[in-house]
Amino acid sequence: MSDYLFTPPPCPSAPVQGHSARFPVRRIFCVGRNYAEHAREFGNDPDREPPFFFTKPADALVDSGSVIAYPPATQDLQHEAELVVALSGGGADIAPEAAAGLIFGHAAGNDLTRRDLQAEAKAMRRPWDMSKGFDASAVIGPIRPGPLADGAIRGLVDGVVKQEARLSDMIWPVADVIAYLSRLVTLAPGDLIFTGTPAGVGPITRGQTCRIEIDGLAPATITLR
Ligand code: MN
Repeated sequence: MSDYLFTPPPCPSAPVQGHSARFPVRRIFCVGRNYAEHAREFGNDPDREPPFFFTKPADALVDSGSVIAYPPATQDLQHEAELVVALSGGGADIAPEAAAGLIFGHAAGNDLTRRDLQAEAKAMRRPWDMSKGFDASAVIGPIRPGPLADGAIRGLVDGVVKQEARLSDMIWPVADVIAYLSRLVTLAPGDLIFTGTPAGVGPITRGQTCRIEIDGLAPATITLR
């Protein structure tokens, strides 16, 4: 007999390139302001801030190729093209040099954001949860196992390039992100890290398709209905 009062919800997961088995997801961490030009477009000084983090619930994940409903409670849904790092190892107080050994693979992702709610939260000094962690807010493409070389990251709306940068433009490289984060929480296999977005974020509306491209990875695409 089960020890649960009702059937537990399914384990959130992400597709893996070349595998029928899916990557089971434990937690989703996200980095704020990891590209200098994006920090400046919101009036922040990228040279004076250590990385900071927020989270999304794991069940906010959406596979690439999905058609999703325009979310409630916003008039300003925006795309954020991001590299997603999938961990197969973990720990606390991880040294940057040890971080690469904990990475299972990488994916293209879209940190969907209710920008109007985020602006209100910033102004009122309230948490970001409802602007960042809403249903279907974490779009992910198939995870490609193994290391990832530097390359371009792009965000396109209906085929028009809105965001474009190099992964090497990140203020805090992936190894530093993992090291910093592991001083705040104990990381574990199944954790995903959305590593921040370049400049050029903007709205997506009903009927539009948003595609996140990263060299060497499969894209993360969603269409809004
Ligand atoms: Mn983001």
